[in-house]
Amino acid sequence: MIPAAFDYVRAGSVDEAIAALGSHEDAKLLAGGHSLLPAMRLRVARPGTLVDIGRLSDLSYVREDGDHIAIGALTRHHDVAGSEALRAGCPIVSYAAEQIGDPQVRHMGTIGGSVAHGDPAADMPAVLVALGAQIVATGPGGTRTIAVDGFFTSLFETALAPNEVLTEIRVPKTTGGWSYLKFTRRAMDWALVGVAAVQASGGAHVALVNMGLTPVRAAGVEEALASGSDPATASQRADEGTAPPSDSFGSAEYRRELSKVLVKRALQEAMA
Ligand code: FAD
Repeated sequence: MIPAAFDYVRAGSVDEAIAALGSHEDAKLLAGGHSLLPAMRLRVARPGTLVDIGRLSDLSYVREDGDHIAIGALTRHHDVAGSEALRAGCPIVSYAAEQIGDPQVRHMGTIGGSVAHGDPAADMPAVLVALGAQIVATGPGGTRTIAVDGFFTSLFETALAPNEVLTEIRVPKTTGGWSYLKFTRRAMDWALVGVAAVQASGGAHVALVNMGLTPVRAAGVEEALASGSDPATASQRADEGTAPPSDSFGSAEYRRELSKVLVKRALQEAMA
């Protein structure tokens, strides 16, 4: 389908983007366009103005900074996947980026777009939840840092204000085991269910893809592991507190069972 009519503004800086968001009604940022443009073609999204930030190359970087790695919001999935700093310091992020869509999607889609879009079926949000990442946003009042635990608020909704630009994602350097497993019907599909597991100093962190309106922390599993359960026993609590969708790809029941199987495998892999 053809999108509804819209105006187009190309921002030359983050400040210009923030100003354009504030001065145009129903304005939306355009990064890689690989979620927003399909939604516009389906007329699920009808922004009055697109503010294009896709060419803000100063927001495309991966940098080590003390105990964390900073990733610019405009960094394409392909560059996240290939980053040596991430492969060495936080390999679950580069590995998960490699699992997103196909090469075309990875060359256009950005990590910031994936996070700001707030799709619970997306790969990177659950990985960031498992890692306890920080999201940096800049708006008219300045820059703030948001803990990822409070960032995803509902389906396609986040803590970002309408006139804020997500500028950076900060992930902690990890030294423990990790695993990202994504179950798909066909190669390069979206996850039917996905699991991110990370061994941190305080215990294992586990987050689920496509098991609710937002990426979900598998709190029951983490609690069971902390009290000494083995992965097979702990994984039986994978679907606690989740609300998986039923759709043409799989029922909620199926997803619940799948989450238990995947969590068990992910924990075994992370602990191996
Ligand atoms: P856009 O589409 O440009 O924007 C998405 C939303 O985020 C818009 O609302 C926009 O206003 C907002 N936004 C973008 N950047 C910012 C910012 N810096 N600050 C604030 N708001 C911002 N994803 C997966 O995780 N796994 C998959 O397997 C997968 N498969 C795909 C297959 C296909 C065929 C397609 C088309 C997409 C797929 N995707 C998948 C989605 C892909 O990863 C998208 O690139 C990503 O979700 C959005 O990034 P984008 O840069 O394209 O954002």
